[in-house]
Amino acid sequence: MAKDEHKVIFFSVIAALLIWIMDAAFGSFFSHRGTFPGLLLHVSSHEFAVRLFFILSFIIFGVIISKILSRHNQVEKALRKHLAAMEASMDGMAIFNQNDEYVYVNHAYARINGYDRPGELVGKTYRILYAEKELEKIDHSIVPMLQKKGRWRGELTARRKDGSAYDQEVSIALIEEGGRVCIIHDVTEKKRREEKQQRSEKFLTMIFDSIRDPFSIVDHNYRIIKVNEAYAQMRNKPINDLLGKKCHEVLQNSCSVCENCVVEKTFHSSDPCAKDKLLTFPDGSEAWVEIYTYPILNKTGKVSYVIEYTRDITDRRKSETERKHLIEKLEYLSTTDSLTGLLNRRALIEMLRREMDRASRYGSELSLILCDIDKFKKINDTYGHSAGDKALQIVSETIRNSLRKADIVGRHGGDEFMIIAPETSIEGTKNLAEKIRASIEKIEFQVTEQKKIKLSLSMGVTAFGPTEGDIDTLVTRADNALYASKEAGRNKVSILMPPVSAEQAK
Ligand code: GH3
Ligand code: MG
Repeated sequence: MAKDEHKVIFFSVIAALLIWIMDAAFGSFFSHRGTFPGLLLHVSSHEFAVRLFFILSFIIFGVIISKILSRHNQVEKALRKHLAAMEASMDGMAIFNQNDEYVYVNHAYARINGYDRPGELVGKTYRILYAEKELEKIDHSIVPMLQKKGRWRGELTARRKDGSAYDQEVSIALIEEGGRVCIIHDVTEKKRREEKQQRSEKFLTMIFDSIRDPFSIVDHNYRIIKVNEAYAQMRNKPINDLLGKKCHEVLQNSCSVCENCVVEKTFHSSDPCAKDKLLTFPDGSEAWVEIYTYPILNKTGKVSYVIEYTRDITDRRKSETERKHLIEKLEYLSTTDSLTGLLNRRALIEMLRREMDRASRYGSELSLILCDIDKFKKINDTYGHSAGDKALQIVSETIRNSLRKADIVGRHGGDEFMIIAPETSIEGTKNLAEKIRASIEKIEFQVTEQKKIKLSLSMGVTAFGPTEGDIDTLVTRADNALYASKEAGRNKVSILMPPVSAEQAK
């Protein structure tokens, strides 16, 4: 109970006691019915009942008044609270009567409408805030709606005191006696921001769709939040079917992140990444794509989204593979003898140069064999050129099968072959030559259906000398050894030792 209510009850009790005392005083001093103390306490039961009635009446009266006061205080307090809230509100609030006149306007309402004080609007009609077109809308659609539903909410364009227009969000509700309470909010800035955002979104979409390669943006759950038309075409699905799906579900129908996923890498590293990937489409066709990812960072520098840009490189991959094959083929052709499949003379000399360098650098041994088919011209002349070709192929194959992995063999020209034997002594090489000579000797070449002929090789063996730097000297010495074999009656192996160095001579 408030202090005022205590006071009322207190004064009621005091008033009741005063009546008691005054009645005793009146009886004693004016009616001479007895002494004052006697009349104060010793009274007839009738008088006591009358005094008690008065006292109780005063107290009950006091209690009733205090209750009324308490209620009044509460209502006033609540009203003050509401009023303070309305005054403090950032939204404009106004109450107007059935004549459309403002009876209450808060500061925000006055400020939003360009007035200095609420008092400037009180007593005036709200119609001063709106242009003809808006008033028509109010009269013909808002007021009927208000009558029907009791409230209306929407947007209107209002005019400030200086005549400038602004957009307001309005809520109107009917209150007692035809009055209306109206809450307004200036949304000009909000609408401008929305329009700006719409414009930039439209611009972004335009950029997106003008990119001819598939393009998408995924969030940290790998969900696609934006794709362009090219991306949708790549997956042969409408854009709306892709939005919200996980990129790996869309790309490879898998529920887990792709192998070597560049989106994942960019989320972890905050760096752009790239990779090539072979995509398989629902119809079974395949395409090579190059995937680039770029991070979109939030204000704290963390990756919130990743842009994925895909480029179809199938044609490029195809031409790269074709080019690779072509280069390999050209390389093969430029180093290989087409008839025998052995190294050609150019490649052989190149290999010999490399092996001579290696032998000089490491002081390792290197030997060389030159061999020539005996009386080969006769095969050509007797059985034809193709029989000669066949004989060359048989001899090549036999030599190849007799060699170790490290040995190198090639066609030195015509019916002549060269064998390079790295890290092999002249003795070892002589044995190898003997082995080859014996293998060739055993061949019975079916030159025609009825005729088998024998083949033989003459061979010259030499070794790389430590003082030797000239390739021709080495090859000439091998050739001389070969000539010696021919001279000695063919189907022979001859050796010519390299020159002895000054140190060895000592
Ligand atoms: P020699 O025992 O002295 O070596 O007698 P040869 O008859 O073998 O004489 P030579 O080595 O000089 O003969 C090589 C011949 O090989 C000459 C050439 O007509 C023939 N020839 C060279 N290249 C080819 C080829 O690719 N195919 C065929 N069928 N013959 C070839
Ligand atoms: Mg020959």
